[in-house]
Amino acid sequence: MKTSIIAVGTELLFGQTVNTNASYLSENLNLMGFDVMYHFVVGDNPNRLREKLADAFKDTDLVLLTGGLGPTQDDLTKEIVAEYMGADLYRDEKVVEDLKAFFEKRGGHMADNNLKQAYLPVGCTPLYNASGTAPGFALEKNGKIAICFPGPPRELKWLFENGGRQYLEQFMEKKMYYRVIRTIGIGESDLETLLMPLIDGQTDPTIATYAKEGECTLRVASQRDTLEEARSATEDMIARIDDLAGKYIYSYDDEELDEVVVRLLREKHLTITAAESCTGGMFASAITNVAGASDILKASFVTYSIEAKHKLVGVPYEIIDSYGVVSPETAEAMAAGAMSSFGADIGISVTGFAGPDADPGHNAGEAYIGYAYKDRSGYVPVNTSRNIRNWNRNYFKLRMLRTVYQILKGEL
Ligand code: AMP
Ligand code: MG
Repeated sequence: MKTSIIAVGTELLFGQTVNTNASYLSENLNLMGFDVMYHFVVGDNPNRLREKLADAFKDTDLVLLTGGLGPTQDDLTKEIVAEYMGADLYRDEKVVEDLKAFFEKRGGHMADNNLKQAYLPVGCTPLYNASGTAPGFALEKNGKIAICFPGPPRELKWLFENGGRQYLEQFMEKKMYYRVIRTIGIGESDLETLLMPLIDGQTDPTIATYAKEGECTLRVASQRDTLEEARSATEDMIARIDDLAGKYIYSYDDEELDEVVVRLLREKHLTITAAESCTGGMFASAITNVAGASDILKASFVTYSIEAKHKLVGVPYEIIDSYGVVSPETAEAMAAGAMSSFGADIGISVTGFAGPDADPGHNAGEAYIGYAYKDRSGYVPVNTSRNIRNWNRNYFKLRMLRTVYQILKGEL
């Protein structure tokens, strides 16, 4: 079904607010098999909204709108859409009750203008909003469908997931199944080249690659007459991707690398301790972001100075003198020291140059990840060839996580 999105709000035209709602809706609509043909942005102006609504309905049958559903004077999306579709407004008593409850719970007083939100177009399908005060709604007339969502991105997402999506499913011509695969250790263009035999000339399932800082995501999607057909086509394709790029894949279910690492450590009843130099605790922060981290993380040292590397995790000064503070030997000694300091099963470390400066003979982006696991130890050299401090630090953290992942998978 041909679809348009209209984002309403003058702040979007001023550039104060980024139109994230359009990208959110587009992504989800595409995944459901709708053809999104246009994005419009219009200010809080009734005439221009009327015009854009007419433009959108000229070429497309489904129009999703966001914004302008609030209680204030400039919020006029609902009124214009109702007028355009020839519907009057009625007072929806469920919304009135919801509004009363909402304000009571917060111990606040409901201003009169809040009741404006309780009016909905006659004949609409209300989308009741438990995440805020403005309800959304879907309105259909002569094969043309308008769906209005509130502007706050959090509310839009909630309402899309709790009503919007279900409403839209009736218009899906085919069933869609997709999975999101996460990779690390290979750039987007290299991954695409690797998968070219699968991507080339392929119409279904489709394989889409997206690069994210230091990582690359693959979305494998199929649209077939039945969900079972779509699922099996997707799974077959994933098996073929696995043959070509399996060693870079860390999740087949769109998990974050830190989540996967914590989950595996917990499953294997292993503990870990880290010694971080240039990441300054980012590894520990990533791990502690995940619920259940307390089962597996014993400690993480921020051993920024040479002195700290010696005093906190026992790196011998001779190693640093002989090989340098950014060296495989120092990294390994940090990891071994971190592991033994708390009797953890795994020690992991990083020492490197985040940039912009690096010692003579080195470059920003050079780092060594050290690891120790039971009686094994080793290091992973990293060189990003980038001179972007925060990008490097984040990437080093990801490589620490990946190193732990590889240890847990028996690859190191
Ligand atoms: P509204 O529903 O128009 O009153 O918008 C409420 C809030 O949502 C404001 O803070 C807006 O900046 C934000 N907002 C509105 N439209 C969008 C959009 N398209 N993308 C992201 N944020 C938005
Ligand atoms: Mg607005």
